[in-house]
This record gives sequence, structure tokens and C-alpha cells, in this order.
Amino acid sequence: MKKEINTYNPYNGDKLETYTLNSNEDLINKLKLADNTQKDWKALEISKRIKLLQNLANEIDKNKDELSELITKEMGKPLLESKAEIEKCNLLIDFYTINADQFLQDDIIETEAHESFISYDPLGCILAVMPWNYPFWQVFRFAIPTLTAGNVGLLKHASNVTGCAIAIEKLFLNAGFPEGCFQTLVTDHNGIETIIENDIVKAVSLTGSEKAGRKIAELAGKNLKPSLLELGGNNACIILKDADLRKHMDTIVKARMQNSGQSCIAAKRFIVVEELYDEFIKQFKSKVEDLNYGNPLYETTTMSCLAREDLAKILEEQVNKSIDLGAKVLIGNQRDSAYYQPTILTNVTAEMPVFKEETFGPVAAIIKVKDEDEAYKSASQSKFGLGTMVFTSNYDAASKRISEIEDGAFFINEMVKSDPRLPFGGTKISGYGRELSKEGMLAFVNKKTIYIN
Ligand code: NAP
Repeated sequence: MKKEINTYNPYNGDKLETYTLNSNEDLINKLKLADNTQKDWKALEISKRIKLLQNLANEIDKNKDELSELITKEMGKPLLESKAEIEKCNLLIDFYTINADQFLQDDIIETEAHESFISYDPLGCILAVMPWNYPFWQVFRFAIPTLTAGNVGLLKHASNVTGCAIAIEKLFLNAGFPEGCFQTLVTDHNGIETIIENDIVKAVSLTGSEKAGRKIAELAGKNLKPSLLELGGNNACIILKDADLRKHMDTIVKARMQNSGQSCIAAKRFIVVEELYDEFIKQFKSKVEDLNYGNPLYETTTMSCLAREDLAKILEEQVNKSIDLGAKVLIGNQRDSAYYQPTILTNVTAEMPVFKEETFGPVAAIIKVKDEDEAYKSASQSKFGLGTMVFTSNYDAASKRISEIEDGAFFINEMVKSDPRLPFGGTKISGYGRELSKEGMLAFVNKKTIYIN
């Protein structure tokens, strides 16, 4: 069994750190600490838990530059995007600081009883298994509502961002959260199995790939524990004949290329009606060509390497298989180690990997369709269900499509994006459960029925 995790800078291959895996004994001790801490933590007044959130926001603010650099070094995203990610964590904290108390209030339900209501009690110790693509945001999106509701958290982060995982634990401790309230586990897939099986763990939240989702859901199911799964996506971006391309093109390009294309909710399939097809291609190509590739630590860089070389190779393979099936390369499809050039593929059809599978990098698959009906039909031809976006000037027509979209989100004239105020999650093989908003706060609580006669 592997005893160490090495982290590398994907931009230049330099080794960053070596971390020793927690022993079984370490893991058990962390579980016990979590269990003990939770008893006091849930008894603490909500106002005191909320007060710690503000300390946490201050800690994050104080260390913003250093944390952003750590993200960029470990997973290669451009520094400005790392900074934006850190700032978004504080927006999330502000949102729950203002709303947590109200979200956790008892809900009175009128019945024939003297009093009847729902009380929201924490479940206990919750395990989070997290991905590397937004190494701070994904963790905070889980931890802030979950901990504020009176739970404690254990984090198993993606191994290539172990430095971020340790830094996050330190932030909670420095903010004054009790020891054991939020702990990072340095472990592997076997360790996860041991932890999910342990009685102290009451539920598990995973953000990651479909493959990891199936494994975690299986382990949680076997142990009869609830799970929340935020998995991959293959969002369609529909461009209708009345879309205002000049106004929205920056958003459309960002929808695919931000985070060097490594976002679950990125637009991956661009479904364009033939009337606007040529103009779309012209404007889209020109903006993609303007992206500035370089060292992610430079603030001028807007596109950089992928998080690991193996991920770039998988992407290249998906593209090459699609080319074999008839796709045409408009630009791109060059790989150098972990860097994969922004790529636009035309002539894409439904049987190609770039249509059927999630492409986790800067590849835009363009599908030409006859009209609006065909566009929506093609968009829904996916086993994923994170979100659909449409660009059009006809709001009424787009609104009439709401009920036919089976995804977790439908965005009109905007890219699908997460916002602390709105629920976030998928359908179909993109997972189940919701994070953010009040939904996220109630994801790991016992909705207890109280009946007083
Ligand atoms: P990943 O390979 O599935 O890994 C995610 C986490 O699961 C990591 O901590 C990983 O640990 C762990 N893991 C993987 N296989 C496992 C197994 N068999 N047993 C136990 N744990 C396992 O995903 P990723 O490459 O980090 O992230 C990219 C994926 O996440 C994409 O599919 C993306 O769409 C999805 N994602 C979804 C959302 C959403 O909100 N829906 C958001 C962001 C990302 P190791 O690192 O040790 O393997």
C-alpha cells in the first residue's frame, strides 16, 4: 500500500511536497475527536457558531495571496482565478452568516396538536470527499452550511491538492473553531472505505467524477448512510437565431474556458442553429484565440495547463476518437505535457465522445442544428443533468421550455454558475442532493417531527 502522497506543479512538473498518509490509528483518533467535539459543538448557541464564521472570513482575507498561490501551484489554474475562488468563499460565508439562523429555525406546522413543528438537528460527523478543480470553493460549499448546522466535518481531498486540504484545516483552527470540528484526512481510497464504515460517520458528501460517485454511493448504501453526490456534467449551450452574440460572447467563451475548461458546469456542447452558425463560429473562434496561455502564476495569464498530464492525455484521446468519427478541428488539438491547447471541434455528432462524455478541459464541441426544436432535442440527449443554458432574445419562448429541461439548472442568457443564494446540484448521472442556499444548510440535518398534544 502507498504510504505517501507527492504533489507536483502541473505547469512545470516540479515536485512541491511529500505528505505521509495517516495510519489507521490516526484515522480512528480523528474520528473519535470528531465525535467528542460534535457533542459540544451542536450544543453551542447558533449565534456563537455564526460568530466563528466571521473569524474564518477574516483569516481567509488575511491569507488570500498565499492561499491563491497554493491553489495555482498545486492544480495550475491562473492566479487571478484562484483569487476569485478565494473571494467567492467569503461571499458564501457572508451569505450563511446572514441567513443561517433563519434557515435553522423550527418550522411550525399547524395540526390538531397543541403544537407541532419540524426541528432541524445536526446528523453528527459528515465525511466530504472533494475534487481538485476548485479546491477551496468545493470544500467551503460543503463545510460552511454543514458545520454551522451543528455537524462536524472530515475532509478527504483529491490527493493532488493535499496542501490546500491542510491549509483549509489550519484556517478553521486559526479562526477559533474547536479542534475536531473540521479535520483533514490524508488518506487514499481504502481509507475512505474504512471511514464510511465507521459508526461515527453519519453521512457522506462527494464532489467528483461519475466513477467515484458510483463507488461512494455503493459504500454509503452498503452502510445505510445518506449521501449527496455532485458529479460530472456535459452542459449544453444553445445558441438560437435571435441570440445577441456581441453582448454575450465573452460569457459564452468563459462558460467553456474558465478554469482552463475544468468545471463540471462548463458549457461543453455548443448547439447552434444554422442561421447564426457562421457568425457564431467567427466570433467564438476569435475570442478563444485571444486567450493568453502562460505560467498560471502570472496575472496576465487567462489559460493554463490542466491539473495533471494524465487528464490532458484523456482529453486528447476523446478528441482524437471524435476526429476518427468525423469531427473537424477548427483550432487546437495540440498537447504538450499537461497543456492542452484550447480546441474547437465542428461537425460534432451524437455518437462522438466529445458529445456523449464529459470533456474536462478546453474543448468546445460545436453541433449545427436546423432550428430551435432540434436544438433543445439535441441538448437533452445526454445522460448527464447538471444544467442547460440558452442564448436568445425571446424570453417568452425560452421560458416555455423550463418544464422540458430535466437538468438541475436552466440559465437563460447567462452561463450556468453557482451562487450561494441558489440551490446547486444535478439530476441523472450528475448526482443527487443540493448544496448552497437553504437546501445546502438542510442537506445534513435530521428533519425531526415534534408533536405536542
Ligand atoms: P475524481 O477523480 O472522481 O476525484 C474526486 C475525489 O474522489 C478525490 O478526492 C478522489 O481521491 C476521490 N476518489 C476517486 N475515486 C475514488 C474511489 N474509487 N473511492 C474513493 N474515493 C475516490 O474527480 P476529480 O478528477 O478530482 O474531479 C473532476 C470531476 O469532478 C469531474 O467529473 C467534475 O465534473 C466533477 N465535479 C463535479 C462538481 C459538481 O458540483 N457537480 C464540481 C466539481 C467537479 P484521489 O484524488 O485520492 O483519487
